[in-house]
Amino acid sequence: MSDYQHVLLAVDYTKHGVYVAEKARVLANKYQAKLSVIHVLDNIPMPDTSYGTVIALDQIAPDELLEAEKIKFMELGDQLAIDVVNRWMVWGIPTQEIINIADQEQVDLIIVGSHGRHGLALLLGSTANSVLHHAKCDVMAVRLIEK
Ligand code: AMP
Repeated sequence: MSDYQHVLLAVDYTKHGVYVAEKARVLANKYQAKLSVIHVLDNIPMPDTSYGTVIALDQIAPDELLEAEKIKFMELGDQLAIDVVNRWMVWGIPTQEIINIADQEQVDLIIVGSHGRHGLALLLGSTANSVLHHAKCDVMAVRLIEK
């Protein structure tokens, strides 16, 4: 089996994101592979508040929220020592954009988190499942355990 040369980490900002990111970093180091990261914006980014996302729409400045999202993304890229040109923050449908970038950048391993959904939740679809079915390269699903 040949070593992986280009690993793509797909991140959302759930509480498990750091765990998945750390797995990607360790794996890329092990193979001495290039590490890229993608975050797909598929809705209006909302601020993290102790009240959740309850905020009047007319009080939101979308540019500021987008800027906060970019900062968060750049901080993650810095933590993982990922080259700025290998950080992808794009608008779209997560699965499609993850696969587009993987193809475009000749990625040979995509890393996603997986909640191991079953029943109705699985039928409704998950990003991990969809990437696994549509990617042309290997996909590693990091099992996320809810505690
Ligand atoms: P989900 O199936 O939506 O719970 O997400 C499972 C995994 O898919 C996450 O742990 C990420 O690796 C990836 N993912 C989900 N949403 C996004 C997104 N908007 N951008 C990039 N990756 C994502």
